[in-house]
Amino acid sequence: EHAVVSMIKKAAQQKQPTHRANVEKLKIYELIRALDQHQFDLHYQPLICNKTKKLVGIEALARLNHPTKGLVFPDSFIMELEHNSLIKDLTYKQLDQVLKQISSLRDDGISLSVSLNISATLLVEKHLPDMIFELLNCYQLPPTNLVLEITESSVIEQQADMLEVLARLSMRGVKLSIDDFGTGYSSVERLIDLPFSEMKIDKTFVQQATTDESARATLESMTSMAKRLNMSIVLEGIESIEHWNMACYLNADILQGYYIAKPMPAAQLIEWIKKWQKAIA
Ligand code: C2E
Ligand code: MG
Ligand code: MG
Ligand code: MG
Repeated sequence: EHAVVSMIKKAAQQKQPTHRANVEKLKIYELIRALDQHQFDLHYQPLICNKTKKLVGIEALARLNHPTKGLVFPDSFIMELEHNSLIKDLTYKQLDQVLKQISSLRDDGISLSVSLNISATLLVEKHLPDMIFELLNCYQLPPTNLVLEITESSVIEQQADMLEVLARLSMRGVKLSIDDFGTGYSSVERLIDLPFSEMKIDKTFVQQATTDESARATLESMTSMAKRLNMSIVLEGIESIEHWNMACYLNADILQGYYIAKPMPAAQLIEWIKKWQKAIA
């Protein structure tokens, strides 16, 4: 076990995700206005089962429809929102929006889970679980339809309040997913203690593994570690047939990436789903 962990840590240090350095960050007044004027939206990216190729869920990803700048991506605003308490306002609206979205899909006969990215600042809000249970109840959805994605780097610091929130959510069936795994240097001991049921391995590992031997070995140890911890494995960043084949070979549970579908506006979802269902039938 420990050999695997140190291997992962070493590889993670070499393969830091490259952040787009030149993205233009929005100013606080622009973000406040965007919230007031309902300029934030969610796009959805399909998650498919590796074995059956069936659609199992969608990940909601924030977008901002700026009046002059057009479609703005999260790199330009999530960190700014997190530095203020504005991220809370956005996340509460999103929770309602994503549950409404899958309840309407369910009414169309399509049963899916929805994954939402949650910032660490939200996870110390003690009323978050009750708020979520109330919403689930309101839309008559089982808690297992909701997956909360938390980046690995944000769960590193031990925080009693956060542990309590995570425990209360998972005890009632809300799924917890550890996002960008491999970039946060968390220890296995820590992972065992936390109620995560899913590991999303950072896309840099997936993308390097088809050409780089050591990245591939790292990916293999991550997937076997996840299996031993009884977590399902999501591989994101599947961009090509090579990535797809490797994911199949590694026996990952769930796949996500441009090769399958890019994130799309809610209005395009049904049509995509119908096409996909036809394609795999
Ligand atoms: P993430 O949660 O790891 O989401 C995956 C990111 O990879 C998304 O970028 C997605 O569009 C992109 N992606 C998906 N498939 C591929 C692929 O095949 N190749 C490549 N190169 N990229 C792919 P996006 O939408 O720009 O979001 C970036 C990050 O911003 C997210 O990473 C997440 O950490 C954060 N984020 C997005 N929406 C929210 C939100 O509503 N709340 C919070 N707190 N964070 C969010
Ligand atoms: Mg995510
Ligand atoms: Mg990720
Ligand atoms: Mg990320």
